[in-house]
Amino acid sequence: MEYRIAVLPGDGIGPEVTEQALLVLEQVGRRFGHSFRFGKLLAGGCAIDATGTPLPKETLDECMKSDAVLLGAMGGPKWDSLPGDKRPEAGLLGLRGSLGLFANLRPAILNKELRDASTLRPDVIGESMDIMVVRELTGGIYFGERGRRAGKMGQEAYDTESYSVGEVERIARIAFEIARKRSGKVTSVDKANVLESSRLWREVVTEVARDYPDVALEHMYVDNAAMQLVRNPKQFDVIVTTNMFGDILSDEASMITGSIGMLPSASLAEGRFGLYEPIHGSAPDIAGQDKANPLATILSVAMMLRYTMQLEDEARAVEKAVDRVLEEGYRTGDIMSPGKKLVGTREMGMLVAGYI
Ligand code: NAD
Repeated sequence: MEYRIAVLPGDGIGPEVTEQALLVLEQVGRRFGHSFRFGKLLAGGCAIDATGTPLPKETLDECMKSDAVLLGAMGGPKWDSLPGDKRPEAGLLGLRGSLGLFANLRPAILNKELRDASTLRPDVIGESMDIMVVRELTGGIYFGERGRRAGKMGQEAYDTESYSVGEVERIARIAFEIARKRSGKVTSVDKANVLESSRLWREVVTEVARDYPDVALEHMYVDNAAMQLVRNPKQFDVIVTTNMFGDILSDEASMITGSIGMLPSASLAEGRFGLYEPIHGSAPDIAGQDKANPLATILSVAMMLRYTMQLEDEARAVEKAVDRVLEEGYRTGDIMSPGKKLVGTREMGMLVAGYI
């Protein structure tokens, strides 16, 4: 098969880590007989410098014509003083909105080789951790009606949380489908004891669950979920939740793993189109020094193989190659510990590609 991938390396360490992810993808192509065509495009700060806008039309057009998008990272101090709509982050938001990416998948995986990096005690975290947070990305309070008005106690400001049946149904289906391929449990997180939008959320998720009798569903209030994540994270498999609750819980879950350079993400649209990116930023402090950990971006490519291309064996091959490199003791600076072998960005990429 031939696949077309729009590659947006972006700023800071973005170009370094995407280069290694593409190296791994090319090796997957050779090994499994696929052809990947990459179109490299400007986005973020580098696009502002070259064209005056963080998301040039040419970039968006190419993304829309592609099967998937691979993004490095956007932003950095050079562009921090620009007004909001001219900043690199505006490019990222524009991209998400224009591409209709409504489902954000954030795995929080603690590799057993790196369990010392966790902020939780070994008896709480156990050998390893593997949670998938599925966050609704284009609805809810971040997109609801907002404004200011005169109130009894002076000016008031408001933001509106609202969800439709269709919006909840499509994100719930994504969560159940994913749970089916994992250990078969979905925890739906809401605040149904207080919010009407959460009561609708709960009703719709319960209804969708009828189509997935092989998946266990539990409902949890968001305040309890925040506590349970640090009390006993191993009880979770797939968490599905709203845009705002997901924003907070996905960061909480990923920080439990302690290694920002290891965590991938996917944002999916209807059909199989998706945007894949590491959760970390452009790390200007280490950019251009061959110090960045490319594994989060490499694991984002594994997610691309799984969710857009439906190539499960190829996705597993990438994940296994990463496990193997860690088992052999290779580490970039951010995950280094005594007795391990320190390698740079390029060597880490070559090692993973070598094990495909
Ligand atoms: P950051 O994630 O870039 O860096 C935080 C810390 O983690 C730094 O010490 C950095 O060196 C380290 N780090 C991050 N990724 C690493 C990797 N792969 N390997 C080794 N170390 C790594 O967050 P920040 O410093 O808050 O943000 C820097 C810039 O990135 C800002 O301009 C911010 O707006 C932008 N940003 C972009 C995205 C994105 O493109 N999706 C996400 C977050 C932040």
